[in-house]
Formats: sequence, structure tokens, C-alpha cells
Amino acid sequence: MPQNLLDFDLPGLTAWFAELGEKPFRARQVFRWIHQAGVADFAHMTDIAKSLRETLQAQAVVQAPAIKFLHRSADGTRKWLFDVGVGNGIETVFIPEDDRGTLCVSSQVGCALECSFCSTGRQGFNRNLGVAEIIGQLWVAQHSLKTEANRTTGEIAERPVSNVVMMGMGEPLANFENVVTALGVMLDDHAYGLSRRRVTVSTSGLVPAMDRLAERCPVALAVSLHAPNDALRDRLVPINKKYPLAELMAACRRYLVHAPRDFITFEYVLLAGVNDQPVHARELVELARDVPCKFNLIPFNPFPDAGYEKPGGEAMRVFREILQDAGYVVTTRRTRGDDIDAACGQLAGQVADRSGRVIKRLHREAA
Ligand code: SAH
Ligand code: SF4
Repeated sequence: MPQNLLDFDLPGLTAWFAELGEKPFRARQVFRWIHQAGVADFAHMTDIAKSLRETLQAQAVVQAPAIKFLHRSADGTRKWLFDVGVGNGIETVFIPEDDRGTLCVSSQVGCALECSFCSTGRQGFNRNLGVAEIIGQLWVAQHSLKTEANRTTGEIAERPVSNVVMMGMGEPLANFENVVTALGVMLDDHAYGLSRRRVTVSTSGLVPAMDRLAERCPVALAVSLHAPNDALRDRLVPINKKYPLAELMAACRRYLVHAPRDFITFEYVLLAGVNDQPVHARELVELARDVPCKFNLIPFNPFPDAGYEKPGGEAMRVFREILQDAGYVVTTRRTRGDDIDAACGQLAGQVADRSGRVIKRLHREAA
């Protein structure tokens, strides 16, 4: 099997080159060809010695997951469905805005954590994505968007993807090593050169992995809160039973020790009549008091048989005002790309469940 060079960060590629008897600067050159120029064919790496190019052709490939579909939304949002083998597909979303372009990247095929309002969670879990499958989403998006911009305007869009959020399918911190390696490539100046604050990991609250992320790669952290007390959060985000709110809040404070001057973004999906009442907002005000943070309110995005409803406009306004009056910065996420099912929590891809969970649920329903 040829070695897929998208599986490496720069230290990994350098070590692999050393085995070939090649110097570190050669690894750097090839790494830049791959990630900065978007070149997959070694023959096109013109400043690399011919003998090395031939070795690479014989022993390596640069292979991102194959694109199955690309959907374009009326608002400019794009969604790719990538084929990751044996009946599995993952989704990646690009959201263009005036001052930035954000890519929402998947980390797993499905998700094992079963949050009750999440379409990915409903589908079950198949496997972790490899490094090449994670960074390959950015590689494809960055370079295809560049080429497209060149064709349509004649201008070179230097960096269509200016921000990455690990908010696609899956729980990134449950695929820790591969995600951290991919983050390293995103931040590397010889690759995408994104600053630490332009890369966000979103977690449902895997406390020990949050501590490890702080040590290894303290990028911006978003924590999916969704409830202000343990009783409600146990129902909505079942991992809360293992890492309850007091532990989660303490982990948030520890994280910021490694990322001074940063803040945690608390994500809060508003579910009509479930967690969107003034009493919940007031509880949140108290819960988050000791954590430098801001809130990102996300109106629930429906999917078939979800069993939840979108919040009303008035409930959202009141909820937001209670947080704002207590001094918090609050953003309300605008829904983008919902005409192509690309909004938060709607990513479904194709998951050949291996946890047996979906089958169990069907049995429960039938009983
Ligand atoms: N597993 C990670 C990241 C992926 S989900 C996490 O849970 O944080 C990204 C965000 O979308 C999370 O905050 C998640 O709770 C939210 N989300 C999930 N389902 C949603 C839905 N149906 N409507 C709106 N947001 C949803
Ligand atoms: Fe998994 Fe996040 Fe969905 Fe929960 S919200 S099931 S952690 S992807």
C-alpha cells in the first residue's frame, strides 16, 4: 500500500522522509506543494529532484476522500458529501461571509454520544476518521474553492477558507489523536497557517480530553452546553452523566489557563418548551459566572422525526436579553444552508451503524 501523505503533519512527514534518507527541508517543500499549492501529482512538484519524485511516485500518494456530491445553497453555502468507503459518507460545509469563509469539518462517521436533538447522533456510529480524511476535507475545499474563484472572476482568492470549525459530524475529542494531528496541519505555516483562534473545536464535554487538548493544541474551544442543570442535560446530552456540569465548568476554567485572553464559547441549542424558558436563562447566568465566555444561541434545526420544535422568536429574544442583561456577549447563529440540509445538526452523511443502537431503537419502537 502506498503511503498517503495527507496522513502526516510536518513532523510526521519529516520522519518518513528521514527513513527514505531525505533531508527535512525536502519534506517541507513537498508539504508546501501539497497543502499550499494543492498539488497531488508528484510530477508537478517542479523544484523536487527527479529521483525523489520517482521515489514518491512509487511509494506514496496524496489522496483525499472522493467527492460524491457537491450541493450549492441559494445563500452561497456549499456542502460536500465525501465517500469514506463501504456505505459510509461524511459531510463538510463551507459558509462564506463578508469577512471570512468558514469550513465546518467532520471528525467521525456518525457519533456515539446520542444527543437526543442531533441528527448525526441518531444515526449511530461507524468509525473514527483518519488524519487524511479530516485534513482532506480542508484540502479539497480550499483548493477547489480557489480554482473556482479563479475561473469565475479571474482573481486569485488567496485563502477562501479562513476559519475552520470542528462542528460537522462526530465528536472531535473522541477521535483525539487524529484530530490533534489534523489541527497541527491547519495551524502550520507551511500548510494552511491558520491562527489558533481561527480554528475551533466543538465538544459535548469530554472532560479528560479537554485537558489534553489544552496541553497539546489549545485552539478555540466551543462547549455544547444546551442545558443549565444536570437533570435536563442528562436527558439532552447523555455524556453529562459521566462528566456533569460542575466538572465541565471546572475543565473550562482549566482550559483557559492554557489559552489566556481567550474565552469559551458556550453553544446552546434552543428547543421549544424544553430548555428555552426564562428560568433556564437565569440558571445559565449563574452556572457560567466563573468562566470567561460568550454564548452562541442556535435555534433548533429540525430533521425528520426529531421530536423537537424550533423556538419561537419571542422566546429567543427574552432568553437572549436575560443573558445580555447579566453582562454576557451573546450571538445568535443565523441558519445558513438549510435548503441543502447543511445547517448545524442536520449533517447526516451515510452511516453504516456498527453500534447496534439504531436497530435497538427500532426494536424499542416496535415493542
Ligand atoms: N460533537 C460536537 C460537535 C458537532 S455538533 C458537539 O456536540 O459539540 C456542532 C453543534 O451543533 C453542537 O453544538 C451541537 O449540539 C449542535 N447541534 C446538534 N444538533 C442540532 C440541531 N438539530 N439543531 C441545531 N444545532 C444542533
Ligand atoms: Fe455527537 Fe455532537 Fe451530535 Fe452530540 S451533538 S450526538 S456529541 S455530534
